[in-house]
Amino acid sequence: MSLLYWPTSTGKRIVYVLAVSTATDLVYHFFKYLTSNKKSQPEPEKDIAETLFFSSECLECKHHVNTNVPCERLTCPFRNLNKIITHILSARKTLEVCVYFFTFNSIARALIEAHRRNVVIRVITDEESSGNDSSQAFNLRRAGLRVRSKKFEHTILMHHKFVVIDGKVLITGSANWTGQAFFGNFENVIITNQKEIVRGYSQEFESLWETMSADVGDQPLEEGARMVRNHSS
Ligand SMILES: [Zn+2]
Repeated sequence: MSLLYWPTSTGKRIVYVLAVSTATDLVYHFFKYLTSNKKSQPEPEKDIAETLFFSSECLECKHHVNTNVPCERLTCPFRNLNKIITHILSARKTLEVCVYFFTFNSIARALIEAHRRNVVIRVITDEESSGNDSSQAFNLRRAGLRVRSKKFEHTILMHHKFVVIDGKVLITGSANWTGQAFFGNFENVIITNQKEIVRGYSQEFESLWETMSADVGDQPLEEGARMVRNHSS
């Protein structure tokens, strides 16, 4: 039916107008459907594949912790550290932390901040290192976070250093979460969102979480109820 056609009788004119109107509506709704469908498509996730390195030169940058500003060096460890903390702060649902020795205050603050946003946080650390005076384990428990550790036989350590963020991003490497690691040692860290790798670490976390005794330090501590441990470094 051509738009240039105009029927001669009144009846035909009514049918013609209705037909054109219906066709216009159909075209409108079809384009609206296409547009809304396009909007509802999630943005494809960008690949994250980052390497961070720390070295003995990092000692020169330790004072940035006080000023909270990195220097111009591309390898500035404070800049690297901020990347790690930014990822932790980006958590919306879960944080699975599994770190042998954890003393670094800025990361503890980031975890506590995430906990206050109702991010579900579970922390696994080594039993012996968590008893060290500088360990953040007590502070985290006091803030209401669940922290598990377990003493294994002989000299077996819980020696992992990783965190899984929202089940999607993994940060791992050689570095404990300590000032010595970030500002004094040669260390490596990778950040990735490659699904298979993240899934493997998440599964390992679940397995360890179950292995760790739930009755030692899993519950948040009341103020002043510090657990007595043998201190050792
Ligand atoms: Zn620097």
